[in-house]
Amino acid sequence: MDISDYSYVVVGSGLAGAVLAERIATKVGKPVLVLEKRGHIGGNCYSTNDRETGIEYHAYGTHIFHTSDEKVWNYIRQFTTFNNYQHRVLSSHQGKIYQFPINLETINHFYGVNLKPFEVEGFMAGVRDPSITEPANFEEKALSLIGRDLYEAFFKHYTIKQWQVDPRTLPASIFNRLPFRKNYVDNYFFDKWQGIPEKGYTRVFENLLADKKIRVLLNTDFFALRDRIRKDACLIYSGPIDRYFDYKYGKLSWRTLRFEQETLPMEDYQGNSVVNYPGAEVRYTRIHEPRHLHPEREFTRDKTIIFREYSLHDQGDNPYYPIASAENQRLLALYQQEAVRLPNVFITGRLGDYKYYDMHHTIARSLEIFENGVLPLITANHAV
Ligand code: UDP
Repeated sequence: MDISDYSYVVVGSGLAGAVLAERIATKVGKPVLVLEKRGHIGGNCYSTNDRETGIEYHAYGTHIFHTSDEKVWNYIRQFTTFNNYQHRVLSSHQGKIYQFPINLETINHFYGVNLKPFEVEGFMAGVRDPSITEPANFEEKALSLIGRDLYEAFFKHYTIKQWQVDPRTLPASIFNRLPFRKNYVDNYFFDKWQGIPEKGYTRVFENLLADKKIRVLLNTDFFALRDRIRKDACLIYSGPIDRYFDYKYGKLSWRTLRFEQETLPMEDYQGNSVVNYPGAEVRYTRIHEPRHLHPEREFTRDKTIIFREYSLHDQGDNPYYPIASAENQRLLALYQQEAVRLPNVFITGRLGDYKYYDMHHTIARSLEIFENGVLPLITANHAV
């Protein structure tokens, strides 16, 4: 089949695109063309084995699958089993390791006290900033909840490194992403289901895209062959929304990550999959050690691999996180107004929706587009 023969074209083989390609191929039963700019499938979920050590790692940063959405869970389990990994994060402050997000162990260790859960509230009342009654930004929110010492140790510099802006310019809602716990619970997520695909993320994508009706073209830029795609094709576009419209209103800004890999001559470097480095003394924000994501696997005992994570803004061609500024929201609204006028085009995914989706959000969104966008479109076209 030639490119111009396909009635269903999916741009991007990340989670948003792969789920929709799977739904269309298996439920509509029509050929689907998937165009992938990179040399691999899976988008930023892509995982691969390190050549030297055989340790599987997530090339675009540690991805933990977690959801409480039964529909999403039942859907994804058709394509993978999950191991029993539970995400716990540690934070390194002045050479000492603390549990993170802040819980009772963090507070006791940090202040050298031995509080009981029911004593935390009274203690925190003494360290909080009582003058902030209506916190208007990230910093004020932090000071009003945990006080200056914990804020400066664990949040301030991490946030500056991560967002490269003054924390007083960030919304208080970003601080709310993290819980503050008065007990010893140290799970990062509270979802009903959690884990890492037992055979890795890339295998999940191979399974999603396994149907013979799906044809994936790697190293293929949609914009280079856009003219050859049928004008009436159902197009699923999961790339950046501003790029789709040739940046006509201007560019949305993105936060990007850079990873520096190192192989070390020991079995275990840090004893955990992720350790945060919230201090100003190092430029990276965290260190990932992927062997810990698969406690069920036997890896080499001689070596381990680690990845130092650095945050960048608008550099390279690898957008990760939308930046929630008023200007970006204004641009996004302009692009979205254009997008709704294209009945057979669905712009989606983290890049298309310009939303900070976790993986389970992306799956839910793709299932929703299939049911409430693609299927009605087919019905409407048949009716004509
Ligand atoms: N944060 C921090 N110190 C940390 C971890 C997170 O200050 O050790 C801040 C940072 O500003 C981050 C926010 O808390 O953007 C929310 O954390 P989350 O883990 O949700 O961050 P993300 O998923 O964006 O990396």
